[in-house]
Amino acid sequence: MGLIETSRSQNTTPSTDLLTLSEIVESGLCIGCGLCRSIAGAGQVEMVMTPEGRERPVARHALDKPTLAKINAVCPGTRIAGPPPAQMNAAALADAVWGPVERLVLGSAGDPRVRFVGSGGGTLTALGQFLLDTGRVKFVLHVAASRSMPMRTERKLSFDAASVLEGAGSRYGPAATLVDFSDILDRGEPFALIAKPCDITAVRNLARLDRRVDEHMRYALAFVCGGASDLTKSEQVLQRFGLSEDELALFRYRGYGNPGPNRIETKDGRAFEISYRQLWEDEDKWMIQPRCKICPDAIGQVADIAVSDSWLNGGPAVEDEPLNGIIVRTKRGLELFDAAVEAGVLEIERESGIAEISELQSHQVRKRRAVWARLTGMAIAGKPVPFVGDLALRDCASQNSLAENLAEGRGARDRARRGRLGEPPAVPRSVGGTVLADGCP
Ligand SMILES: Cc1cc2nc3c(=O)[nH]c(=O)nc-3n(C[C@H](O)[C@H](O)[C@H](O)COP(=O)(O)OP(=O)(O)OC[C@H]3O[C@@H](n4cnc5c(N)ncnc54)[C@H](O)[C@@H]3O)c2cc1C
Ligand code: SF4
Ligand code: SF4
Repeated sequence: MGLIETSRSQNTTPSTDLLTLSEIVESGLCIGCGLCRSIAGAGQVEMVMTPEGRERPVARHALDKPTLAKINAVCPGTRIAGPPPAQMNAAALADAVWGPVERLVLGSAGDPRVRFVGSGGGTLTALGQFLLDTGRVKFVLHVAASRSMPMRTERKLSFDAASVLEGAGSRYGPAATLVDFSDILDRGEPFALIAKPCDITAVRNLARLDRRVDEHMRYALAFVCGGASDLTKSEQVLQRFGLSEDELALFRYRGYGNPGPNRIETKDGRAFEISYRQLWEDEDKWMIQPRCKICPDAIGQVADIAVSDSWLNGGPAVEDEPLNGIIVRTKRGLELFDAAVEAGVLEIERESGIAEISELQSHQVRKRRAVWARLTGMAIAGKPVPFVGDLALRDCASQNSLAENLAEGRGARDRARRGRLGEPPAVPRSVGGTVLADGCP
């Protein structure tokens, strides 16, 4: 199954090509967003935390064909569509790698507290708060640390500015943002989504089938995303300090500075910190999920506004001034951005451009150029690949030399043949022989 680049009009899934949930997972295409669980219903599909530390869907019994067809049509592992070509054509700036851009600046939240608490410069939090304060939306759908198990991440609905701030910061582990998205649409109220680009891809896919998405979801805001880690990445940090998960009162990856420390607090009052650099010093231990390695849109082309870090070469010097790259992508995003600047909710440090963002996010540029060859390599190995449309993957690949594309493609083909791009079947973790669902040890 799968096509590596289609136009929007070709963008349909033949029913003979339907993948089952376990095929999606085992092909390494699932990112654990939870939308399939929301579509099929909790009685049919449950999300489990696997031994690898990934949230994955498991069907309680074989799903009927219409349900499976809908899941294949919306899953961000099986279908990844970029912005409509008209948006690209009409954009103030359009770039093969970076997609449509209405405005590109370096900036941050105007409120010093939001700037400090936020992951980089607090831009996404400030925008979420502004949307609520001005009555543009009733609530914001995003994620936050679980209160009962603070190393885990849960979807969060925020109805006021204080609640949006509680969800500030990057959550690098698994996050099933869309696990009850159907219930959210059932509320029939205007809302904004702040999430990973793949979460927004999933919701945009659903919008083709369910008109309530465009009716109620007024804004989709993304962060530029280098990949989500397995929970085992976070568990390694606990091991470093000899801690167990049930001792935790806080597990913050970053924020409270830019980037701020990875901070852990225990219920009995102890505190531990490592720096962002220490957290990510060993690339072999990043434990990035397989879907991320072939992500065609980690830069949020499908969002109204995408927000990035703004560190040279992808990493902070030590503690940097609070600052984000802000990529305004749509007219709707531009109207929101202008209003937020006018209200002092966002501050612009200076204009930026494609050349600068490419330097600040060089890893994203490399990935955009590599994905077409990687997906082609997987397809040659006979593995399922997603339907991808309107993301200029071939144009990005053409910025590589033939030798680079061949190396990427052959590497992916060989890894796929060895099963290294796939995943084991999703099973829940077990403790002491007891099988546990929903990631609750
Ligand atoms: C998995 C991951 C990978 C990242 N990779 C990159 C990268 O390659 N390049 C880069 O520039 N920056 C990356 N970031 C950091 C991200 O860019 C910053 O969060 C972003 O710059 C926004 O900063 P901010 O200060 O506006 O965020 P904040 O104001 O702190 O707001 C962050 C918002 O994102 C939501 N959120 C956090 N984690 C998740 C999650 N896992 N799933 C869904 N929603 C979430 C929060 O609920 C919050 O509303 C990554 C973050 C994450 C979580
Ligand atoms: S990516 Fe989302 S929709 Fe697709 S299988 Fe995984 S959890 Fe389900
Ligand atoms: S890299 Fe892509 S697939 Fe992975 S979490 Fe980020 S947006 Fe989702």
